[in-house]
Amino acid sequence: MRYILITLYAMLATLPAMAQVRVVATFTDLADITRQIGGNRVQVTALARPQDDFHLVTPRPSMALELSRAKLFVRVGMDLDLWADDLLSAARNSYILRGSPGYVDCSVRVKKLEVPTTRVDPSMGDIHIYGNPHYLFDPANAKLAAQEILEGLKRVDSAHAAEYEQRYRAFVQRLDEYLKRWQEIMAPYRGKPVVVYHKSLPYFLQRFGLQELATVEPKPGIPPSPGYLREVIARMKSANCRVILLEHFRPRRFADAIARETGAKVVVLPAAVGAEGTTDYFSMIDAMVRRVASALSGS
Ligand SMILES: [Zn+2]
Repeated sequence: MRYILITLYAMLATLPAMAQVRVVATFTDLADITRQIGGNRVQVTALARPQDDFHLVTPRPSMALELSRAKLFVRVGMDLDLWADDLLSAARNSYILRGSPGYVDCSVRVKKLEVPTTRVDPSMGDIHIYGNPHYLFDPANAKLAAQEILEGLKRVDSAHAAEYEQRYRAFVQRLDEYLKRWQEIMAPYRGKPVVVYHKSLPYFLQRFGLQELATVEPKPGIPPSPGYLREVIARMKSANCRVILLEHFRPRRFADAIARETGAKVVVLPAAVGAEGTTDYFSMIDAMVRRVASALSGS
């Protein structure tokens, strides 16, 4: 009898874990935001790894398996995680298909930048066809993403809606406090020019008032030629631009070559939660802000 009781207690103790909402997010940033809003009510997996180039995620069969068990699917949307569509079909989980209660596209409320105004053709490189999808680098957009996630969680687990609402409000409050601090740190550098490897940062630069002077890539996804690099170097010298920003997964060699000619600093940014020792969305943006400010302060 005593043994049965102990077993029963053990089973009851594991019940909350069994009742957790399984969430699959395409990227670690969204997985983290979902954890912050879902707390211990959710069990979250990210499909892409922090070290992946977010444009080049390779779908694996294990990802479809994760999706087949999920009650909520959370994506960046636009064209950044189109690779997930085949996985969604393979997973055969009608609960998380587009238009279903368990489907969350975090880009819905975002004011998109760089939406192509002309017909996109291959001569333009790997251009983002629905506009620039790297919106999570503006903390204000993380709030919009969090709101989509909140609504998704409430749809699939309405019994705990009040808890989700509460954590969402705490997340927004914390984000507002951080944003104020980040804006103070960046305030002295308003209007400063920077070179970026890829057009990953228009939302970040817009938020903090920096100017994108040039990109190391001549076109998205296309490596630079020596002639193009000479052009970038000349532009940097005439604009007195001394900072090159690149995401953690990029090769350094082109940026280093430019730096040798211009004396610029190469700043590696953690562009995913989990990269460069970051543990959540706040520490990721905090590291980005501090590294950029530190490079600009010496330039
Ligand atoms: Zn991109």
